[in-house]
Amino acid sequence: MTTSNDARLRPDSLAVHAGREDLRALGVHATPIDLSSTSPLPGVEPGGDAYERLATGGDIGDGSAVYQRLWNPTVARFESALAQLEGAETAVAFASGMAAVSAVLMAARQRRGSHAVALRPLYGGTDHLLATGLLGTETTFVDSIDAVARAVRPDTGLVVVETPANPTLELIDLDALVAAAGAAPVLVDNTFATPVLQRPLRHGAALSLHSATKYIGGHGDVLGGVVACDDDWAHALRPIRAITGAIAHPFSAYLMHRGLQTLPLRVRAQQAAAEVVARALVEMPGVRSVRFPGLDGCDPAGLVGAGRQMAGPGSMIAIDVGSAARAAAIAEGVELFTHAVSLGSVDSLIQHPSSLTHRPVAAEAKPHPGVLRLSIGLEDPADLIDDLERAIELADRHGTLSHSAAGMRGETAEATSATRSRAAAARP
Ligand SMILES: *Cc1c(COP(=O)(O)O)cnc(C)c1O
Repeated sequence: MTTSNDARLRPDSLAVHAGREDLRALGVHATPIDLSSTSPLPGVEPGGDAYERLATGGDIGDGSAVYQRLWNPTVARFESALAQLEGAETAVAFASGMAAVSAVLMAARQRRGSHAVALRPLYGGTDHLLATGLLGTETTFVDSIDAVARAVRPDTGLVVVETPANPTLELIDLDALVAAAGAAPVLVDNTFATPVLQRPLRHGAALSLHSATKYIGGHGDVLGGVVACDDDWAHALRPIRAITGAIAHPFSAYLMHRGLQTLPLRVRAQQAAAEVVARALVEMPGVRSVRFPGLDGCDPAGLVGAGRQMAGPGSMIAIDVGSAARAAAIAEGVELFTHAVSLGSVDSLIQHPSSLTHRPVAAEAKPHPGVLRLSIGLEDPADLIDDLERAIELADRHGTLSHSAAGMRGETAEATSATRSRAAAARP
């Protein structure tokens, strides 16, 4: 797929047109979805050559796609588009964000060594995968860039970081982090920022990873992951993807590719709404603290404000409402927000990280039980603010009633354990 003409396009135009360069010649306007699980082979020898090429990480070139687990044209279109948006040589798409994280860990082991350095906080699933050592990676968890520099060893295959971080929106200075990592390649989980707001490869990261389930899909109806990187990394990732069967389904790739067309628009509109909601939350009684990269104090290094790294604060907000019981009551009391895991959808979501997404995370790295994570969608922010105000008011009214009936201690313990059992039942 040619990309030379489009190097001149600006990001918003790329989002609409990338990966669609051949459609006019094909005589179609929307991208075809190629569902073939297998492909006719041109002959025994060229078929074998094509298999060899794909199984060792190569590109399809003008050969056969052979088998969907090795290559799929619809997936390749999405990869081409995402790579262009990230300013990367190429991209490799997976069935989920966690499939992408797993493949990167395996590739890093193979390429450089089995030690990883992980800067917390991270997405709960990534933290869990690293902490269990399930894929043979030995991980040193750290909590500062200085500690990254101290933890890196000759056999460090990967430094893992997320910025803004899940769930508390910490911002990491990627220039400083890449310098601290030295020769070790840096993987940035760019899920929260999207390529619209942040392009980690520009700051020296080796890999930029997305749970495309979130903003890229954008409508809560597709599971997928993608890694933007150079050709060498892609050559390592594709065989792992083929062996483990982790390639994205073509229909998912179609939806993720379509999602890219409105990504810049959605990200900017959701971000504008999040700014309004975050400022209202700061003033709201019962909200102890608000973390949002657009607020004073949440961006000490000027990564967003001075535009050093991000083009805007995004649309994720974390609030501390003081206790697990109050957090649970608010999550259960909202009506316009949906109480659900995930983020980045056109509709607003709220969830309680310490009992849900970050439940498997070690105690010392777990978010405070009073923290709620909000993903702001495309609703009118005034309606979202009304919803939060009402839920907080309701939570406090209930809190007061059970306080007088059972005492604060008992009420808190009860609400917490009820939340726990529900979260355990709901966890995927
Ligand atoms: C959701 C998420 C993941 C995992 O992605 P899945 O598509 O759910 O497998 C990884 N990183 C971040 C930051 C996420 O939010």
